[in-house]
Amino acid sequence: MQIGCTLGDRLYQKVDMNILEFVSKFPDEQSCRLDFKNKREDQGVFCKKCSSEVHYWLKNKWQWQCKNSNFRTTLRSGTIMENSNMPVRSWYLCMAQIKKIIQSMSELVSFLQVLVKLEQIVKSL
Ligand SMILES: [Zn+2]
Repeated sequence: MQIGCTLGDRLYQKVDMNILEFVSKFPDEQSCRLDFKNKREDQGVFCKKCSSEVHYWLKNKWQWQCKNSNFRTTLRSGTIMENSNMPVRSWYLCMAQIKKIIQSMSELVSFLQVLVKLEQIVKSL
């Protein structure tokens, strides 16, 4: 029981720390939108109309415009956020929490594997 409580406390602290880190890194919607824009540009923005990767950034509209076809691509176009009105910051918070949950589940699996090995050792005594 002591081991389980310690693990639970540790997992809780990690999630709690993650929220503090998140708030520090992304204090508002603008910081999330800018980060998302930079990440999309790092991966390359592709035009749906002509497949060109060369775009202008329309600062006031928060859209890319294809240099070849003038087709416009929104910040959310082609992503999981495309048909959502939820703020980018809310998406980021959800994704950060899901990431932490997956990491916590991975730690839990490792912990359970140790318990199984311990059980095997105890049975062999
Ligand atoms: Zn184009």
